Amino acid sequence: MPNRNEYKVVVIGSGPAGLTAAIYASRASLEPLVIEGQQPGGQLTTTTDVENYPGFEHGIQGPELMEVTRRQAVRFGSEIVVDTVKDVALDTHPFTLTLESGGKLVAQSVIIASGASAKYLGLENEKRLMGYGVSACATCDGFFFKGKEVLVVGGGDTAMEESTFLTKFATKVTIAHRRSEFRASKIMQARALANTRIEVLYDTVVEDILGEERVTGAVVKNLLTHEVKTLPVSGYFAAIGHQPNTDIFRGKLEMNDVGYLKIQHPTTRTSVEGVFAAGDVADFIYRQAVSAAGEGCKAAIDAERWLAARGVH
Ligand code: FAD
Ligand code: NAP
Repeated sequence: MPNRNEYKVVVIGSGPAGLTAAIYASRASLEPLVIEGQQPGGQLTTTTDVENYPGFEHGIQGPELMEVTRRQAVRFGSEIVVDTVKDVALDTHPFTLTLESGGKLVAQSVIIASGASAKYLGLENEKRLMGYGVSACATCDGFFFKGKEVLVVGGGDTAMEESTFLTKFATKVTIAHRRSEFRASKIMQARALANTRIEVLYDTVVEDILGEERVTGAVVKNLLTHEVKTLPVSGYFAAIGHQPNTDIFRGKLEMNDVGYLKIQHPTTRTSVEGVFAAGDVADFIYRQAVSAAGEGCKAAIDAERWLAARGVH
């Protein structure tokens, strides 16, 4: 439970955007509250090496990066609670946030950094076998596929990274991608393509996941030849991107057609004054930890100036 009922700044989310916002807001003496959500530390806690975050010449593990960022936020006075925001009232100021735990909070300003979550294909068996061979996190579940074959669907950086990581355990990793070229960055593609345990099926879609109690196979179809075949895989990893976590803001804040919050570039202002958004929740282009952190910094500065203009320091 939060220590108080009323805050100058409440940050929703504890990924790179939320924690960076907290570092800046706490250094501005705004004593922010961070509500962590169901994934403390955000998406980077589901990965291993982060090699492109500046300041770490030899890379850093995702969970470690988020742990030190969290400690940095706490050192300057951020309060961080394990809870999730389930509803927001943004039509009257100060704003009211309702938490899963049942409590309500009053906030002078809100920074939304609720990020994005993994997408799935939407197959019935994908849902049914979730956790029984179906996953969207190789770091979390890869170990269970030691000595087995797995299928990864997708053609972006996540698909490359997940596939490469899975070869530590699986005897064979098949990537099924719906087009004839990957969207992933060149370096990530090169790494995956050079790995002899990885086979790529281009122009291929996944039609079904097989298995009664656990995944025992997957049906794939080549879109050019229309050939349909069953792969004898024990694991299936969805790596087809993410959707923004904005359900609780629907009808309350302006969003684009797929749910990303609209902000007034180059600021982080949303369509409601005093509410700011940072990171993947508002970014469908860059979606990087460093850009999320940068937006978190901007959101805290925007909130600080907005509050100061209203005499709140
Ligand atoms: P997220 O990290 O998505 O964090 C969102 C936070 O919001 C979470 O803490 C969640 O619990 C919280 N939340 C959601 N809803 C609520 C709610 N209702 N109430 C309270 N809290 C809520 N980027 C790189 O730059 N380098 C990499 O190497 C890299 N590797 C990646 C590997 C993988 C497997 C994945 C999936 C992504 C990777 N990325 C990488 C992308 C990077 O992780 C994201 O761009 C970044 O984490 C976005 O940060 P964020 O703070 O906006 O959101
Ligand atoms: P992404 O870049 O959006 O790629 C999603 C992939 O899934 C695309 O290849 C897409 O195909 C495919 N796809 C989407 N919907 C599909 C469907 N219904 N059926 C079949 N295929 C589908 O997502 P991401 O790979 O998760 O990456 C997200 C962001 O995080 C990116 O900015 C990425 O750079 C970053 N990231 C970085 C790293 C790193 O730098 N180490 C690691 C992971 C992620 P199309 O190509 O045909 O659209």
